[in-house]
Amino acid sequence: MKSDLHLHSTISDGLLTPAELVEKAFEAGIRIMALTDHDSTDGLAEAIATAGNYKDLTLIPGVELSTDTKNGEIHILGYFIDTKSDRLQHTLKSFRDDRLNRAKSMVEKLISLGYRITWDEVLKVAGSGSVGRPHIAEILAETGQVSSIKAAFDELIGRNGPAYTERRKMDPETAIELISQHSGIPVLAHPREVDNLDEILPSLVTAGVKGMETYYGLYSAEERTRFQQLCEKHNLLATGGSDYHGPDRAAECDLGDSKTNLEVGQLLLKMHDELNL
Ligand SMILES: [Zn+2]
Ligand SMILES: [Zn+2]
Repeated sequence: MKSDLHLHSTISDGLLTPAELVEKAFEAGIRIMALTDHDSTDGLAEAIATAGNYKDLTLIPGVELSTDTKNGEIHILGYFIDTKSDRLQHTLKSFRDDRLNRAKSMVEKLISLGYRITWDEVLKVAGSGSVGRPHIAEILAETGQVSSIKAAFDELIGRNGPAYTERRKMDPETAIELISQHSGIPVLAHPREVDNLDEILPSLVTAGVKGMETYYGLYSAEERTRFQQLCEKHNLLATGGSDYHGPDRAAECDLGDSKTNLEVGQLLLKMHDELNL
């Protein structure tokens, strides 16, 4: 039996509905799971209701926030966050609006550069989930206006591209505080992707981060050991998950295939009990 504490549904950029995700997770042997959609807790009610159909399945409510540092993006997970808070929901909505406006601005820039793309097409490709640069890139590649999705990023909508629009910045400490203020447990997501981890970690710890994704995706044994040691050093809980987005995303870790055993989930539940949030 396993845990999987990092999962996305159609509420953000996943391919399965919250209910489908819960069903599939149970079939995969997962007994403690967390739904962690980007900037939204809207899938949690459905996920919790579906999990209620299975006797031995625990569903932990979560969310994933994107933040920025001078060295790139850092993602912060928030477990057990108080979804009923108006202030939190208002903040999450402003993040989602921001995502949408940013994508819109990039489409407008592309049009003014002479590319054939419309906002309606982008919305269609994104489906019910949150609109992002991959959807824009997909359209440009499929219509042959760039040679590949990667080329769309490299030549147009990547950080230095002519159609790129900046996100509104939030630093990771602010996200950690936001989660803590709403009874949540903040956890640093996919630490391998953080360039200056050793340098930034003390500041995240001071801000109140409680854990770090050690058993993330397909991290190697060496990587897991490195993060375990950092967790011990900073007194953090080692968590983990697949960051599963759906059955067709072949390049990623499959549902439940991260090395997140049942005990990892139990320790998160225990931490929540002990913090008495
Ligand atoms: Zn992430
Ligand atoms: Zn994620």
